[in-house]
Amino acid sequence: MNTVTVTINGQNVSGQEGMTLLDLAREAGIRIPTLCYDPHLGPYGSCRVCLVEDNKSGALLASCVTPISAGMVISTDSPRVLETRKIVVQLMLASHPESCLLCDKGNLCQLRQIAAELGIGALELYKLPNYTGTQEVNPFIRRDLSKCILCGKCIRADQELVVEGAIDYLHRGFDAKPATLEDQPLERSECTFCGTCVTLCPTGALSEKEPLWRGTASQRISSVCPYCACGCSLLLGASEGKVVGVKPGEKPGSVNSLTLCVKGHYGWDFIHSPERLQSPLIRKNGNLVVCSWEEALDFVVRGLKGIQGQHGSDFLAFLGSSKCTNEENYLFQKLARVGLGTNNVDHGSPLTNLPSPEYFGPEWGWGSMTAPIGEIEKAKGILVIGANPEETAPIVAYKIKRAVRFKGASLILVDPRKTKLVPFSKVWLEPRWGRDWALILGLLRAILDEGLGDRDWIQKNVAGLEALVEEMKPFNLDWAAGESGIGKEVIRDCARILAASQPAAMIMGSGLWQGPRGISALSALMNLALLIGARDRFYPLGKESNGQGARDMGVLPDFLPGYQNLDDGEARRKFEEAWGQPLPRQKGLDAGEMIMGAEKGRIRGMYILGENPVRSFPGGSSVRETLAKLDFLVVQDLFLTETAHLAQAILPACSFAEKEGTMTSAERRVQLLKPAGQPTGLSLPDVKILVEIAQRMGIAGKGFSSREIWKEINGLVPLYGGISPERLDREDLSWPCRNMNEPGFPFLSVPGEKLKFWGLLQPGSKGEREANGRFRLLFGSSLYHAGSGSRSSRSARLSHLVHPGILKISPGDASQLGMEEGCRVKVTSGEREMTFSLSLDSGLPPGLIFLPVSSIMQGSIFDLLAFPREGPRGFPNPKTVEVRIERVEA
Ligand code: SF4
Repeated sequence: MNTVTVTINGQNVSGQEGMTLLDLAREAGIRIPTLCYDPHLGPYGSCRVCLVEDNKSGALLASCVTPISAGMVISTDSPRVLETRKIVVQLMLASHPESCLLCDKGNLCQLRQIAAELGIGALELYKLPNYTGTQEVNPFIRRDLSKCILCGKCIRADQELVVEGAIDYLHRGFDAKPATLEDQPLERSECTFCGTCVTLCPTGALSEKEPLWRGTASQRISSVCPYCACGCSLLLGASEGKVVGVKPGEKPGSVNSLTLCVKGHYGWDFIHSPERLQSPLIRKNGNLVVCSWEEALDFVVRGLKGIQGQHGSDFLAFLGSSKCTNEENYLFQKLARVGLGTNNVDHGSPLTNLPSPEYFGPEWGWGSMTAPIGEIEKAKGILVIGANPEETAPIVAYKIKRAVRFKGASLILVDPRKTKLVPFSKVWLEPRWGRDWALILGLLRAILDEGLGDRDWIQKNVAGLEALVEEMKPFNLDWAAGESGIGKEVIRDCARILAASQPAAMIMGSGLWQGPRGISALSALMNLALLIGARDRFYPLGKESNGQGARDMGVLPDFLPGYQNLDDGEARRKFEEAWGQPLPRQKGLDAGEMIMGAEKGRIRGMYILGENPVRSFPGGSSVRETLAKLDFLVVQDLFLTETAHLAQAILPACSFAEKEGTMTSAERRVQLLKPAGQPTGLSLPDVKILVEIAQRMGIAGKGFSSREIWKEINGLVPLYGGISPERLDREDLSWPCRNMNEPGFPFLSVPGEKLKFWGLLQPGSKGEREANGRFRLLFGSSLYHAGSGSRSSRSARLSHLVHPGILKISPGDASQLGMEEGCRVKVTSGEREMTFSLSLDSGLPPGLIFLPVSSIMQGSIFDLLAFPREGPRGFPNPKTVEVRIERVEA
């Protein structure tokens, strides 16, 4: 690119061809005020505040849209520029209400700041009456369009950053305003309330709807979103020990930049829910009673040790948390293994976890993403299969849509439902239910037949192509088409698109691995990624904020921290030496097996950290009955959850905003949490509670703290060898980061190791229950809900948009059954039944009914699924079941 030199305010400044005058001035440290400009948005040039004077022609130019050219002589602050800029701002103020004192934006209003900068005092212009009234029907965003200066930032945020298309300009001239189609309220539009428009609005036209008690933030504290595994960076606004607002973190290189989704932006009000646990509780004579921390901690240690002494270590089980920090999870598994001598340790729910790390191995980051989420935007071909990122990982969805809309990427979407990604897809494939595996084999077949993919690279870097070719022999395109229901020409076209669109990315979710033949489908997809060069952009979508960290920290029944196998003698010796005692050798029980063990009396005591199995495990009511049989149950959580109700001891923990620590997102990015609020009541950070217990068990000395935990992690977990809170205070780090001089690797590479193709026929997963009805019920995620009852379910704002007990069905199926919108229906699976209100959804194919997992569903929504589990060990349970459906009286 050519270098161009321009004279700005008498100073010669050089930049690259294509830059605007505003870019160049800013690079040279020359301030030009702006209102409609934002570096994350395309140039717009509507507010004219950035006017500069071209001294040669005398023209006034909007610097944000004027490209530089050689020899320009520009003034940014000539008397003429300042006078015109002043008039521009005065004209805006003429129609702006004089309500600054009451405006939520306060001193942060950019219009007010620029007016002050230009010395505008009392307005001499005639005031135009312009009061439209505030609109605050929805629970998140307040709109006062009388303060709108038509900068278009909200519209551009909506269309360019999150690519929803919910708003645009309505009317022209004085009547112009940003609005939804036909000026409907936001809640009846495509708006997902991500709040990006609020973040970018320079005035008080858009603000967060908030209760008056909160006040203004006096501090902004860096943190991480507590919801999904994207790991969005947040700034928590704090005042007097309370969180009063959330903004996107805007850290350089963050995954989310200026965007968030509705959960991250507005779902934080659970922190101050009046239902938070205030003090420890222990059960005495059948009743839960308040007690001191000393009493509770002694009680817990006595209870756990009692079970160990009476029955043995393996009669205990430890369920860790995919929401707690790395430090907490590390200490939790150490407590289980060293303090109580068992490998019965796992995390999360069998319905939401990723498959066991063993199904991925080190070359695939043990199930993490192999590249930053931002790389999706650079892909030319994208395959999304078994995932609905719009609901489960919105930042991933933003990147996919931006890649398609602005970079011309080809999206191949495999989904039985008509999701919001369908309009962005080049090809939308709806294979027969449970036949993803066959479809992927068809794609493999077409690629092998046509010699697509970079064969030289494969020969050099991947072992086992001959074996794959041999194994693929029985699977021709006719077979794949017959099995999947997708025409063989379509399969062939998709294979060609994927192979030709380089770089290619693959995004997959639980719909893939929780389907029939889930393991084989996952292995086949990994083979496909190797063939078309998408291994370097492979994105399994985990669901929880620190599910990745819990896995990394060894909260797994068969891996020590850092995916060091229990069977690896050298690794075991290293841990035994550091921890000063022999470790249990036998692999432990996973989360599902723990509950089955409790059912059969082989587990007598459990410690559950930040999880709520009664609500989030399949067969919730049976889980409740099973946990009630335990001799001793400890629950550590923020709320008195359904599971906590069964416990002998309940330990109140701090929320993410009240503690410090680290979390690891699905892209292996480790980030720091800092406390922004005071602990609620007597609650303590989880790590503090665990340290107290570890000290009582003699596995931690006095004064043991997170610092010691990090020393251990650095010494014992090579992937985290160079990660420390001190470094994270300066920058995010992605593992592997083996020593303090290493920068971390956002792109996963396994030096010296050759990749390998996987066997096609992995151990089978039945994956499907016996058919007992004509409909397949699919449980799915909802944008407004996540987890098991301690975050979104306690967010008053998110709960507004969740409709409990809605079952979706295609209009055709409903009409055949003689049912209509809103009627009550009973759904039966085996012995289990539940009732719902019916909602018609034209995006569903015949035979499939959909149940969005809701935050305020009464009882366990997963009662329709059976326990014990049906899938193979270490693989999440299938989240579908065949059902009968019949109308019942309201
Ligand atoms: Fe980001 Fe996920 Fe949080 Fe939404 S829920 S703000 S996408 S981390």
